[in-house]
Amino acid sequence: MAPVTEAEIRAALATVSVPARGGNVVDLGMISGIAIDGGNVGFAIEIDPRERTALEATRRVCEDTVRALPGVTSATAVLTAETAAPAARAGGAGTGDVAAIVAVASGKGGVGKSTVAANLALALAALGQRAALLDADIYGPSQPRLLGISGKPSSPDGKTIVPLENYGIRCMSMGFLVDEETPTIWRGPMVQSALRQMLDDVRWGPLDVLVVDMPPGTGDAQLTMAQSVPLAGAVIVSTPQDLALLDARKGLNMFRKVDVPVLGIVENMSMFVCPKCGEETPVFGHGGARETAARMGVDFLGEVPLDPAIRETSDGGCPIVVQAPGSPHARAFATIASRVIDGLQRDDAKPAPRIVVR
Ligand code: ADP
Repeated sequence: MAPVTEAEIRAALATVSVPARGGNVVDLGMISGIAIDGGNVGFAIEIDPRERTALEATRRVCEDTVRALPGVTSATAVLTAETAAPAARAGGAGTGDVAAIVAVASGKGGVGKSTVAANLALALAALGQRAALLDADIYGPSQPRLLGISGKPSSPDGKTIVPLENYGIRCMSMGFLVDEETPTIWRGPMVQSALRQMLDDVRWGPLDVLVVDMPPGTGDAQLTMAQSVPLAGAVIVSTPQDLALLDARKGLNMFRKVDVPVLGIVENMSMFVCPKCGEETPVFGHGGARETAARMGVDFLGEVPLDPAIRETSDGGCPIVVQAPGSPHARAFATIASRVIDGLQRDDAKPAPRIVVR
């Protein structure tokens, strides 16, 4: 059977009316983020937060309507609402007291973005910065494992969320909010509201830097996310061969498109250091990053060698910066962290603006 199209879904949803608003959900502009994966369909219904209870029935009708279409096996609709600015919220939640939000991104998966994000946040903390980590990687939230954090964050007042903490940094992760079993297709529409919640409702407290582990890649989902987070700057993680293949350039262009200053490039897995003899081998053709960064007009923040110790410490829930603070690798992250701080202090880096209700 031919897969269902977005046009067919919209046409079907146009039959669902919202009497209180005098129109149907499509014409009222309430439908967004339609995601189709074979027979699975996910989408979001944008509402005013006060309408949540009233529109629950509409949400179910929308799901049933789409599920009834030929070629559709499952349909998931979520109600999303823009929330109020942090200043208006109770209990000191939100990013109003966060001096800078920094994205850690990559052109594709598997280059060590999450590893760098965790060690960067820890290295910033080691340099005396008040740092925290927001894991926005919807496809594979790995920060709970990297930081050795398990469990769910609590909400003593039912309104704000207290982030979990380890090694002196606070952490919130998609992994705490979305079940790992939830198919990626369903996470799509949930992303905006989950991300908003992680920014607005979490008690981040006063922070110098909030590091955001972005989803890998430079597609629409990443672009939307880069736009929805008030970023002061971005760090691009790349392996040497990806630098050559221009994957990193895609990352640069994405942030430039949304007017976020790129603080620089980190070259990960730059050299293999033999654990037995200490000999260095340029597995991925090391060395070009500095020149590539210069050619692209961005700073080179530093290089991190390919070393099994980095993977083992991450898998063990105690990243290298914490486990071996005096090691050359921890020093590499300290250098990267101090360059990030310098970059944020330059004029082109923007302070975190307040989140506004749109
Ligand atoms: P990404 O977030 O880009 O998908 P990860 O940070 O999850 O990548 O890293 C992918 C894998 O590579 C993980 O198993 C991680 O432990 C390992 N890894 C990352 N950086 C290094 C490094 N410098 N040396 C050795 N292993 C690394």
